[in-house]
Amino acid sequence: MVRIKRAGDTVTFDDVLELAGTYITNEKDIALLKKAHEYILVKHDGQKRKSGEPYVIHPIWVAYILTSLQTGPMTIVAGLLHDVLEDCGVAREEMAEEFGEEITTLVEGVTKISNLKMGEEQDYNAENHRKIYVAMANDIRVILIKFADRLHNMRTLQYMKPEKQKRIAKETMEVYAPIAHRLGINDIRVELEDLSLYYLDNAAYEQIDHLLEKDTMERKEVVDAMMQQIRNLLDSHGIKYVLKGRGKHIYSIYRKMIKKNKSFEELYDLNALRVIIDGSDAAPCYEVLGLIHEKYTPLPGRFKDYIAMPKPNNYRSLHTVI
Ligand code: MN
Repeated sequence: MVRIKRAGDTVTFDDVLELAGTYITNEKDIALLKKAHEYILVKHDGQKRKSGEPYVIHPIWVAYILTSLQTGPMTIVAGLLHDVLEDCGVAREEMAEEFGEEITTLVEGVTKISNLKMGEEQDYNAENHRKIYVAMANDIRVILIKFADRLHNMRTLQYMKPEKQKRIAKETMEVYAPIAHRLGINDIRVELEDLSLYYLDNAAYEQIDHLLEKDTMERKEVVDAMMQQIRNLLDSHGIKYVLKGRGKHIYSIYRKMIKKNKSFEELYDLNALRVIIDGSDAAPCYEVLGLIHEKYTPLPGRFKDYIAMPKPNNYRSLHTVI
């Protein structure tokens, strides 16, 4: 298995190829990826990121993030090319000739969203939302590329001036994170929220980060013990499942502390497990819930049935606190 690289790792085009190779098998597709890489090496030649690194690091990261979402080859190619129309003076005709109409239209779509300026007006949010939703309706791939672009820019925001950091973080929190939530790209949403909070309320971020670090060891032991107990229970009933431990991310703790006006110590659901059942049949989910409630007393008023009543983004699961 290929380990997915995260913020702070170094990513090269070879990493993109390695990861793409795990699910893209058509040789023509791989050849097109390589062609796009060669192309951006030439087009971005001499350009630098604010960090001082060669500019191509950015589109390569964007392509990598898209590949980790297992998007199709056209989307990854467009991710590699996404800044070429805007920043390198390449004409759309030239790109269309080299890479075809489909990829060029994707890159154009990304360029259009990138050019939406966040106005001073009160309603910039609604306005940007509306435009992004319109683009989504046209082609969801444009949005995925834009999210990969924004994620890498957020990861490298420390090189920007403070005012710009604040402005971009605010837009990310208010416009991008809710859309990522709606699309169900949860890993990206969580990272965008934490990165935004880091710039919007740094003191709170550092405080929560510190608190989490302090009891991480203890928490890990508690979660491991919980997992073993649930495993024993489900195994003894012959259930097929995947069990995952989940650490809460910093922003969701922040939100609970603010919204519910609780101290860190009062947040009792920091330790959570996910039992994932294969297939689309709901009955086994209720069976697992029943087994758990039979053995551990549930807290009153904390059970939520998002299978019978899915969230607006069509999220469906059962929640309980024991
Ligand atoms: Mn970009």
